[in-house]
Amino acid sequence: RQEVYRELRKKPSVTKDGVQVDLLMNAGLAVDLPQLAEAGAAGIGLFRTELQFMVASTFPRAEAQEKLYRDVLDAARGKPVTFRTIDIGGDKVLPYFKGSIQEENPALGWRAIRLTLDRPGLLRTQIRALLKACGGRELKLMLPMVTELGEIARAREIIDREVRHLSRFAHHLPTSLKLGAMLEVPSLLFQLDELMQAVDFVSVGSNDLFQFVMAVDRGNTQLSDRFDTLSTPFLRVLKQIADAGVRNHTPVTLCGELAGKPISAMALIGLGYRSISMSPASIGPVKAMLTELPLDELKAFFDDNLMAPAQGLPMRALLHAFADDR
Ligand code: PEP
Ligand code: MG
Repeated sequence: RQEVYRELRKKPSVTKDGVQVDLLMNAGLAVDLPQLAEAGAAGIGLFRTELQFMVASTFPRAEAQEKLYRDVLDAARGKPVTFRTIDIGGDKVLPYFKGSIQEENPALGWRAIRLTLDRPGLLRTQIRALLKACGGRELKLMLPMVTELGEIARAREIIDREVRHLSRFAHHLPTSLKLGAMLEVPSLLFQLDELMQAVDFVSVGSNDLFQFVMAVDRGNTQLSDRFDTLSTPFLRVLKQIADAGVRNHTPVTLCGELAGKPISAMALIGLGYRSISMSPASIGPVKAMLTELPLDELKAFFDDNLMAPAQGLPMRALLHAFADDR
């Protein structure tokens, strides 16, 4: 199998009928970087910057942040990298963060963009480090756990201020800056067009989105097999997001665990996703699926089944039957 995957690395990342799908990888530390070449990823679709904070015993200094970001871009050798601003809070606690609080429902609490907008010093330092590290290159930046569009506007103000500050001191700035939002909170599903207009790209965080759409704690093993990520309602949600991206000419990617399993990656591609990001070990198996996938047939399958699944069967079963018949 490993041999097969290694051979596949040289092949174009296209379906059997020739449609290109970018397979990117998720990363978070310098040790992940060699995987980029080994797995044959098209880039880094999610760089979890909070990991550097989580393995440290105090807040990483601005210089250390900048160095990591620079190392990531150097290792990527021109392949795209999407950095996510610090996603702490919830289940990701920093023991040395004195401002952290005890919460009844941490997943719904003071986390991610909510926290960093309240502690703008943290965000400013990180953004400055990113802008410097990306001097002369493209910076793709995304915000985790966006709930309201106002949060994007506030983050953008902080970014613009840092850009102005650095240009005043004649720093080498990024050649372009793309700002995206993660779609993890269902409130955004009811303002998809406005969201798509407010950003340069959207990245679906399916781990959190599934947790909030189904009201099921993503870490609760008692419930982990109970609700299906390939259930009809969740697939319809994912399709609405992909459609809104096309309608607004806004690129949409997905970077949760869903992208890493061949059967669910197949479903995503059928629903319209052309860029998905996963753990490096998943790229081989997903690419093996991709190159054998007759996308036209899968689209027809969804046209027939998404609004009315055949014989009332679960979509997962129907998708497996589709895959087995090919
Ligand atoms: C997600 O929620 O799907 C995601 C990619 O972010 P994380 O798993 O880091 O919360
Ligand atoms: Mg998340």
